[in-house]
Amino acid sequence: MGRSSKDKRDIYYRQAKEEGWRARSAFKLLQLDEEYHLFEGVTRAVDLCAAPGSWSQVLSRKLRGKEKKEDVKIVAVDLQAMAPLPGVTQIQGDITKLSTAEEIIKHFKGQSADLVVCDGAPDVTGLHDVDEYIQAQLLLAALNITTHVLKTGGTFVAKIFRGKDVTLLYSQLRIFFSKVTCSKPRSSRNSSIEAFVVCQNYSPPEGYVPNMSNPLLDHSYDVDFNQLEGPNRIIVPFLACGDLSGFDSDKTYPLQLDSSKEYTYTPPTQPPIHPPYEQACFMRKNNLLAKEDAPAASLDHALSAMQL
Ligand code: SAM
Repeated sequence: MGRSSKDKRDIYYRQAKEEGWRARSAFKLLQLDEEYHLFEGVTRAVDLCAAPGSWSQVLSRKLRGKEKKEDVKIVAVDLQAMAPLPGVTQIQGDITKLSTAEEIIKHFKGQSADLVVCDGAPDVTGLHDVDEYIQAQLLLAALNITTHVLKTGGTFVAKIFRGKDVTLLYSQLRIFFSKVTCSKPRSSRNSSIEAFVVCQNYSPPEGYVPNMSNPLLDHSYDVDFNQLEGPNRIIVPFLACGDLSGFDSDKTYPLQLDSSKEYTYTPPTQPPIHPPYEQACFMRKNNLLAKEDAPAASLDHALSAMQL
């Protein structure tokens, strides 16, 4: 038995070959469909991160059916090239790029998609925190693209890593979908933290305008966030507190605040233990500061004198 064969020769691996699927992942989408009836009434679908193409195969077989319906449109996107599939238009591109979203939209001729699926995964590093972070960023990029192409009421399915910060992702998805469920198909290995979010009834906040700005991914901070409007621009309340007739912190007041009493100095409650001026005070007191007409006292000399 080869080194990697133990893992690969599981029941789904073998069944995929028997049924002609390009990868065992096909069963994950098929099992999600068994539970959620994802393909009901779907004629336009997008498969993000599609290579080698088993999810696109599922879409092609399920949506086009035996009669090979002509009105069905499937667009598959991946960084890598993949072998052609019947009824599937391929785009080789990066899902984090606006140009990719534009290309997808172009294929639908102004119409929106009913379903967007994303099985995207970065090359795992084995460092769990890093892998979870990159996976989350890929999912957000997929969500970004989805907001450009999905019809209101549509469904988005995406791979998610159930790491410790997954709740934040759920909350972000819930902003756009009224129903978000996390599902683990039987064909997804128990040892893997992967699961799939099934987000139903796409309903973005009123006035939301899709945009691809994600400075974390493209490192471009030249989007003027102040130009964003409506729900795209979150403005939190600003509140001034304290009595408005109190002291103005930008103004200088005379020290003698109560003119009827003599001013008495109050020392700081907790003076600094080793203030940065300590050395300078010591040097001045001991006449160690450099003078124009005498050689400067060395720092080492001053420091050793302080330690006496
Ligand atoms: N669903 C596929 C199937 O059933 O055959 C398997 C997908 S595979 C697990 C993950 C894919 O994500 C890889 O082919 C990889 O090239 C793709 N990917 C990762 N980052 C991407 C990105 N930024 N843009 C497009 N594709 C990406």
